[in-house]
Amino acid sequence: MLGPVLLAASRSDRMRRVVAGAPITRPVVNRFIAGDELAPAMDTVRSLTASGLEVTLDHLGEDVTDKATALATRDAYLRLLEALKAEGLGTRAEVSVKLSAFGQALPAGGHDIALENVRPVADLASEIGTTVTLDMEDHTTVDSTLAILDDLRLRHPGTGAVLQSYLFRTEEDARNLAVAGSRVRLVKGAYKEPANVAHQDKAEVDRAYVRCLKILMAGEGYPMIGSHDPRLISIGQELAHRHGRKQGSYEFQMLYGIRTAEQRRLAEEGERMRIYVPYGADWYGYFMRRLAERPANLAFFLRSFLPT
Ligand code: FAD
Repeated sequence: MLGPVLLAASRSDRMRRVVAGAPITRPVVNRFIAGDELAPAMDTVRSLTASGLEVTLDHLGEDVTDKATALATRDAYLRLLEALKAEGLGTRAEVSVKLSAFGQALPAGGHDIALENVRPVADLASEIGTTVTLDMEDHTTVDSTLAILDDLRLRHPGTGAVLQSYLFRTEEDARNLAVAGSRVRLVKGAYKEPANVAHQDKAEVDRAYVRCLKILMAGEGYPMIGSHDPRLISIGQELAHRHGRKQGSYEFQMLYGIRTAEQRRLAEEGERMRIYVPYGADWYGYFMRRLAERPANLAFFLRSFLPT
Protein backbone atom coordinates (compact mmCIF):
# COMPACT_ATOMS: atom_id res chain seq x y z
CA MET A 1 0.00 0.00 0.00
CA LEU A 2 2.85 2.40 0.80
CA GLY A 3 4.52 1.97 -2.58
CA PRO A 4 1.97 4.04 -4.58
CA VAL A 5 2.02 6.80 -1.93
CA LEU A 6 5.80 7.03 -2.11
CA LEU A 7 5.70 7.01 -5.91
CA ALA A 8 3.22 9.89 -5.87
CA ALA A 9 5.49 11.70 -3.36
CA SER A 10 8.46 11.15 -5.70
CA ARG A 11 6.89 13.76 -8.01
CA SER A 12 5.77 16.24 -5.34
CA ASP A 13 7.82 19.42 -5.03
CA ARG A 14 6.56 19.95 -1.47
CA MET A 15 7.75 16.51 -0.36
CA ARG A 16 11.01 17.09 -2.23
CA ARG A 17 11.67 20.18 -0.09
CA VAL A 18 10.85 18.33 3.15
CA VAL A 19 12.83 15.15 2.44
CA ALA A 20 15.80 16.65 0.59
CA GLY A 21 16.10 19.49 3.12
CA ALA A 22 16.39 17.24 6.18
CA PRO A 23 20.11 16.74 7.00
CA ILE A 24 19.21 13.46 8.62
CA THR A 25 18.20 12.04 5.22
CA ARG A 26 21.77 11.99 3.98
CA PRO A 27 23.16 8.76 5.51
CA VAL A 28 20.23 6.81 4.07
CA VAL A 29 20.60 8.46 0.67
CA ASN A 30 24.29 7.56 0.63
CA ARG A 31 23.40 3.90 0.55
CA PHE A 32 21.93 4.33 -2.94
CA ILE A 33 23.80 7.33 -4.41
CA ALA A 34 27.53 7.51 -5.14
CA GLY A 35 27.86 11.18 -4.14
CA ASP A 36 26.65 14.57 -5.31
CA GLU A 37 29.66 15.18 -7.55
CA LEU A 38 31.58 13.40 -10.29
CA ALA A 39 34.73 12.88 -8.17
CA PRO A 40 33.19 10.51 -5.57
CA ALA A 41 31.28 8.75 -8.35
CA MET A 42 34.58 8.09 -10.12
CA ASP A 43 36.00 6.66 -6.86
CA THR A 44 33.06 4.25 -6.83
CA VAL A 45 33.62 3.34 -10.50
CA ARG A 46 37.30 2.62 -9.82
CA SER A 47 36.50 0.44 -6.85
CA LEU A 48 33.69 -1.52 -8.57
CA THR A 49 35.63 -2.11 -11.78
CA ALA A 50 38.72 -3.16 -9.80
CA SER A 51 36.61 -5.87 -8.18
CA GLY A 52 35.54 -7.33 -11.53
CA LEU A 53 32.20 -5.54 -11.91
CA GLU A 54 31.12 -3.28 -14.76
CA VAL A 55 29.14 -0.09 -14.34
CA THR A 56 26.61 2.17 -15.98
CA LEU A 57 26.59 5.72 -14.62
CA ASP A 58 23.51 7.89 -14.23
CA HIS A 59 23.93 11.62 -13.69
CA LEU A 60 20.78 12.15 -11.62
CA GLY A 61 18.06 14.46 -12.89
CA GLU A 62 14.65 14.13 -14.54
CA ASP A 63 11.56 16.06 -15.57
CA VAL A 64 13.59 19.08 -16.63
CA THR A 65 11.33 21.97 -17.65
CA ASP A 66 13.77 24.52 -19.09
CA LYS A 67 16.26 24.42 -21.94
CA ALA A 68 19.22 25.63 -19.87
CA THR A 69 18.94 22.73 -17.41
CA ALA A 70 18.62 20.29 -20.32
CA LEU A 71 21.86 21.66 -21.77
CA ALA A 72 23.50 21.40 -18.35
CA THR A 73 22.56 17.70 -18.30
CA ARG A 74 24.21 17.19 -21.69
CA ASP A 75 27.35 18.93 -20.44
CA ALA A 76 27.44 16.86 -17.24
CA TYR A 77 27.40 13.67 -19.36
CA LEU A 78 30.13 15.01 -21.65
CA ARG A 79 32.29 15.71 -18.57
CA LEU A 80 31.56 12.23 -17.27
CA LEU A 81 32.58 10.60 -20.55
CA GLU A 82 35.78 12.70 -20.64
CA ALA A 83 36.59 11.47 -17.13
CA LEU A 84 36.03 7.84 -18.18
CA LYS A 85 38.22 8.40 -21.24
CA ALA A 86 41.02 9.94 -19.15
CA GLU A 87 41.14 6.80 -17.01
CA GLY A 88 40.69 4.35 -19.88
CA LEU A 89 37.46 3.08 -18.35
CA GLY A 90 35.45 3.11 -21.59
CA THR A 91 35.42 -0.68 -21.82
CA ARG A 92 34.11 -1.23 -18.26
CA ALA A 93 31.76 1.72 -17.88
CA GLU A 94 28.85 2.95 -19.93
CA VAL A 95 26.25 5.65 -19.22
CA SER A 96 22.49 5.61 -18.64
CA VAL A 97 20.44 8.67 -19.49
CA LYS A 98 16.94 9.81 -18.68
CA LEU A 99 15.64 11.71 -21.70
CA SER A 100 13.38 13.87 -19.53
CA ALA A 101 16.60 15.38 -18.15
CA PHE A 102 17.63 16.21 -21.75
CA GLY A 103 14.43 18.18 -22.39
CA GLN A 104 11.97 15.48 -23.53
CA ALA A 105 9.32 16.87 -21.15
CA LEU A 106 9.51 20.44 -22.50
CA PRO A 107 6.06 21.44 -23.75
CA ALA A 108 7.24 22.78 -27.13
CA GLY A 109 9.47 20.49 -29.19
CA GLY A 110 10.64 18.38 -26.25
CA HIS A 111 11.25 15.26 -28.34
CA ASP A 112 13.51 17.09 -30.82
CA ILE A 113 15.32 18.99 -28.08
CA ALA A 114 16.09 15.76 -26.19
CA LEU A 115 17.37 14.13 -29.40
CA GLU A 116 19.56 17.10 -30.22
CA ASN A 117 20.99 17.16 -26.67
CA VAL A 118 21.62 13.43 -26.38
CA ARG A 119 23.30 13.05 -29.80
CA PRO A 120 26.67 14.54 -28.76
CA VAL A 121 26.64 12.24 -25.71
CA ALA A 122 26.12 9.18 -27.93
CA ASP A 123 28.84 10.44 -30.31
CA LEU A 124 31.40 10.87 -27.52
CA ALA A 125 30.44 7.53 -25.96
CA SER A 126 31.16 5.75 -29.27
CA GLU A 127 34.40 7.68 -29.66
CA ILE A 128 35.71 6.36 -26.33
CA GLY A 129 34.48 2.81 -27.01
CA THR A 130 31.42 2.73 -24.82
CA THR A 131 27.64 2.97 -25.13
CA VAL A 132 24.62 4.87 -23.91
CA THR A 133 21.48 3.20 -22.55
CA LEU A 134 18.21 5.15 -22.58
CA ASP A 135 16.45 4.63 -19.26
CA MET A 136 12.67 4.27 -19.55
CA GLU A 137 10.44 6.67 -17.61
CA ASP A 138 6.65 6.75 -17.32
CA HIS A 139 4.49 5.23 -20.06
CA THR A 140 3.74 8.57 -21.74
CA THR A 141 7.41 8.76 -22.79
CA VAL A 142 7.83 5.28 -24.31
CA ASP A 143 7.02 6.12 -27.95
CA SER A 144 9.28 9.16 -27.94
CA THR A 145 12.12 7.26 -26.22
CA LEU A 146 11.94 4.33 -28.66
CA ALA A 147 11.89 6.77 -31.62
CA ILE A 148 15.03 8.46 -30.24
CA LEU A 149 16.57 5.02 -29.82
CA ASP A 150 15.90 4.23 -33.52
CA ASP A 151 17.49 7.50 -34.52
CA LEU A 152 20.61 7.06 -32.36
CA ARG A 153 21.03 3.45 -33.47
CA LEU A 154 21.50 4.58 -37.10
CA ARG A 155 24.94 5.94 -36.13
CA HIS A 156 25.46 4.07 -32.87
CA PRO A 157 23.91 0.59 -33.20
CA GLY A 158 24.98 -0.33 -29.66
CA THR A 159 22.72 2.27 -28.03
CA GLY A 160 20.63 0.46 -25.44
CA ALA A 161 17.02 0.82 -24.30
CA VAL A 162 15.05 -0.21 -21.24
CA LEU A 163 11.77 -2.13 -21.43
CA GLN A 164 9.44 -2.41 -18.43
CA SER A 165 7.58 -5.70 -18.02
CA TYR A 166 4.66 -4.05 -16.17
CA LEU A 167 3.49 -2.33 -19.38
CA PHE A 168 1.04 -4.32 -21.53
CA ARG A 169 2.82 -3.16 -24.69
CA THR A 170 6.23 -4.51 -23.73
CA GLU A 171 6.07 -8.02 -25.23
CA GLU A 172 5.50 -6.40 -28.61
CA ASP A 173 8.36 -3.92 -28.03
CA ALA A 174 10.61 -6.81 -26.95
CA ARG A 175 9.84 -8.67 -30.20
CA ASN A 176 10.71 -5.55 -32.21
CA LEU A 177 13.99 -5.07 -30.35
CA ALA A 178 15.18 -8.70 -30.22
CA VAL A 179 17.31 -8.08 -33.31
CA ALA A 180 21.03 -8.33 -34.03
CA GLY A 181 23.08 -5.58 -32.40
CA SER A 182 20.37 -4.26 -30.13
CA ARG A 183 20.85 -4.02 -26.36
CA VAL A 184 17.81 -4.21 -24.12
CA ARG A 185 17.71 -3.90 -20.33
CA LEU A 186 14.58 -5.60 -19.10
CA VAL A 187 13.20 -4.31 -15.77
CA LYS A 188 9.90 -4.67 -13.93
CA GLY A 189 9.21 -0.90 -13.97
CA ALA A 190 9.44 1.71 -11.23
CA TYR A 191 6.71 4.28 -11.93
CA LYS A 192 3.09 4.58 -10.80
CA GLU A 193 1.14 3.51 -13.87
CA PRO A 194 -2.62 3.31 -14.46
CA ALA A 195 -4.45 0.00 -14.84
CA ASN A 196 -5.28 0.62 -18.50
CA VAL A 197 -1.61 0.46 -19.51
CA ALA A 198 0.15 -1.66 -16.90
CA HIS A 199 -0.23 -4.82 -14.79
CA GLN A 200 -0.97 -3.84 -11.18
CA ASP A 201 -0.41 -7.24 -9.61
CA LYS A 202 3.20 -8.11 -8.70
CA ALA A 203 2.82 -11.74 -9.79
CA GLU A 204 1.50 -10.60 -13.19
CA VAL A 205 4.48 -8.26 -13.59
CA ASP A 206 6.82 -11.17 -12.82
CA ARG A 207 5.07 -13.48 -15.31
CA ALA A 208 5.26 -10.76 -17.97
CA TYR A 209 8.97 -10.35 -17.16
CA VAL A 210 9.57 -14.03 -17.88
CA ARG A 211 7.61 -13.85 -21.17
CA CYS A 212 9.64 -10.82 -22.31
CA LEU A 213 12.92 -12.37 -21.20
CA LYS A 214 12.13 -15.50 -23.23
CA ILE A 215 11.67 -13.31 -26.32
CA LEU A 216 14.92 -11.43 -25.72
CA MET A 217 16.98 -14.53 -24.92
CA ALA A 218 15.65 -16.35 -28.02
CA GLY A 219 16.39 -13.31 -30.19
CA GLU A 220 19.62 -12.04 -31.68
CA GLY A 221 20.16 -9.01 -29.48
CA TYR A 222 22.02 -8.53 -26.20
CA PRO A 223 19.66 -8.95 -23.19
CA MET A 224 20.48 -7.10 -19.98
CA ILE A 225 18.63 -8.58 -17.02
CA GLY A 226 17.94 -5.60 -14.73
CA SER A 227 16.59 -7.19 -11.57
CA HIS A 228 17.49 -8.14 -7.99
CA ASP A 229 14.84 -10.85 -7.93
CA PRO A 230 16.53 -14.21 -7.20
CA ARG A 231 13.86 -16.15 -9.09
CA LEU A 232 14.22 -14.05 -12.23
CA ILE A 233 18.00 -14.24 -12.03
CA SER A 234 17.95 -18.04 -12.03
CA ILE A 235 15.34 -18.10 -14.81
CA GLY A 236 17.67 -15.78 -16.77
CA GLN A 237 20.57 -18.21 -16.35
CA GLU A 238 18.37 -21.16 -17.29
CA LEU A 239 17.09 -19.43 -20.44
CA ALA A 240 20.61 -18.43 -21.44
CA HIS A 241 21.64 -22.09 -21.12
CA ARG A 242 18.58 -23.29 -23.07
CA HIS A 243 19.38 -20.91 -25.93
CA GLY A 244 23.06 -21.85 -26.01
CA ARG A 245 24.13 -18.37 -24.96
CA LYS A 246 27.64 -18.11 -23.54
CA GLN A 247 28.34 -15.94 -20.50
CA GLY A 248 29.00 -12.42 -21.83
CA SER A 249 26.39 -12.70 -24.62
CA TYR A 250 23.92 -11.28 -22.07
CA GLU A 251 24.46 -9.57 -18.72
CA PHE A 252 22.94 -8.96 -15.30
CA GLN A 253 22.43 -5.48 -13.92
CA MET A 254 21.65 -4.32 -10.39
CA LEU A 255 21.41 -0.97 -8.66
CA TYR A 256 24.27 0.44 -6.58
CA GLY A 257 23.81 -0.49 -2.92
CA ILE A 258 21.26 -3.27 -3.47
CA ARG A 259 22.09 -6.99 -3.01
CA THR A 260 25.84 -6.38 -3.17
CA ALA A 261 26.71 -9.95 -2.09
CA GLU A 262 24.61 -11.29 -4.97
CA GLN A 263 26.37 -8.91 -7.35
CA ARG A 264 29.73 -10.36 -6.32
CA ARG A 265 28.44 -13.95 -6.43
CA LEU A 266 27.26 -13.63 -10.04
CA ALA A 267 30.53 -11.99 -11.10
CA GLU A 268 32.49 -14.78 -9.40
CA GLU A 269 30.42 -17.32 -11.33
CA GLY A 270 31.74 -15.67 -14.50
CA GLU A 271 28.59 -13.72 -15.35
CA ARG A 272 28.93 -10.20 -16.70
CA MET A 273 27.54 -8.09 -13.85
CA ARG A 274 26.94 -4.37 -14.30
CA ILE A 275 26.13 -1.96 -11.48
CA TYR A 276 23.94 1.07 -12.11
CA VAL A 277 25.71 3.92 -10.29
CA PRO A 278 23.68 7.13 -9.81
CA TYR A 279 25.36 10.35 -8.71
CA GLY A 280 24.47 14.03 -8.56
CA ALA A 281 22.60 16.49 -6.39
CA ASP A 282 19.14 15.80 -7.86
CA TRP A 283 18.69 12.44 -6.13
CA TYR A 284 15.18 12.91 -4.73
CA GLY A 285 13.05 11.13 -7.40
CA TYR A 286 15.47 8.21 -7.70
CA PHE A 287 15.71 7.83 -3.91
CA MET A 288 11.92 7.85 -3.42
CA ARG A 289 11.50 5.11 -6.06
CA ARG A 290 13.98 2.96 -4.12
CA LEU A 291 11.99 3.51 -0.91
CA ALA A 292 8.78 2.62 -2.76
CA GLU A 293 10.23 -0.70 -3.93
CA ARG A 294 10.96 -1.97 -0.46
CA PRO A 295 9.11 -1.07 2.76
CA ALA A 296 12.18 -2.12 4.78
CA ASN A 297 14.10 0.79 3.21
CA LEU A 298 11.39 3.15 4.39
CA ALA A 299 11.58 1.77 7.95
CA PHE A 300 15.37 2.26 7.88
CA PHE A 301 14.85 5.80 6.62
CA LEU A 302 12.20 6.65 9.25
CA ARG A 303 14.30 5.16 12.06
CA SER A 304 17.03 7.66 11.20
CA PHE A 305 14.64 10.43 12.36
CA LEU A 306 14.41 8.93 15.88
CA PRO A 307 16.68 10.33 18.60
CA THR A 308 19.61 8.00 19.33
P1 FAD B 1 11.65 -6.80 -6.67
O1 FAD B 1 10.62 -7.85 -6.62
O2 FAD B 1 11.23 -5.38 -6.47
O3 FAD B 1 12.83 -7.11 -5.70
C1 FAD B 1 13.42 -8.39 -5.55
C2 FAD B 1 14.33 -8.35 -4.35
O4 FAD B 1 15.41 -7.43 -4.61
C3 FAD B 1 13.68 -7.82 -3.09
O5 FAD B 1 13.03 -8.82 -2.38
C4 FAD B 1 14.88 -7.24 -2.36
O6 FAD B 1 15.62 -8.27 -1.75
C5 FAD B 1 15.70 -6.66 -3.46
N1 FAD B 1 15.35 -5.26 -3.72
C6 FAD B 1 14.65 -4.78 -4.77
N2 FAD B 1 14.55 -3.43 -4.71
C7 FAD B 1 15.17 -3.07 -3.60
C8 FAD B 1 15.43 -1.81 -2.98
N3 FAD B 1 14.99 -0.67 -3.51
N4 FAD B 1 16.13 -1.80 -1.83
C9 FAD B 1 16.59 -2.93 -1.27
N5 FAD B 1 16.38 -4.16 -1.80
C10 FAD B 1 15.70 -4.22 -2.95
N6 FAD B 1 12.90 1.05 -13.75
C11 FAD B 1 12.35 1.82 -14.71
O7 FAD B 1 11.13 2.02 -14.70
N7 FAD B 1 13.13 2.38 -15.70
C12 FAD B 1 14.46 2.15 -15.79
O8 FAD B 1 15.11 2.65 -16.70
C13 FAD B 1 15.07 1.32 -14.79
N8 FAD B 1 16.40 1.04 -14.83
C14 FAD B 1 16.90 0.12 -13.95
C15 FAD B 1 18.24 -0.27 -14.05
C16 FAD B 1 18.72 -1.31 -13.29
C17 FAD B 1 20.13 -1.77 -13.45
C18 FAD B 1 17.86 -1.96 -12.34
C19 FAD B 1 18.34 -3.11 -11.52
C20 FAD B 1 16.59 -1.53 -12.17
C21 FAD B 1 16.08 -0.48 -12.95
N9 FAD B 1 14.78 -0.04 -12.81
C22 FAD B 1 14.23 0.77 -13.78
C23 FAD B 1 13.97 -0.38 -11.59
C24 FAD B 1 13.11 -1.59 -11.81
O9 FAD B 1 12.04 -1.28 -12.67
C25 FAD B 1 12.53 -2.10 -10.48
O10 FAD B 1 11.73 -1.10 -9.91
C26 FAD B 1 13.56 -2.51 -9.45
O11 FAD B 1 14.65 -3.15 -10.05
C27 FAD B 1 12.94 -3.49 -8.43
O12 FAD B 1 12.52 -4.65 -9.07
P2 FAD B 1 13.29 -6.07 -8.95
O13 FAD B 1 13.29 -6.68 -10.32
O14 FAD B 1 14.62 -5.87 -8.38
O15 FAD B 1 12.34 -6.98 -8.12
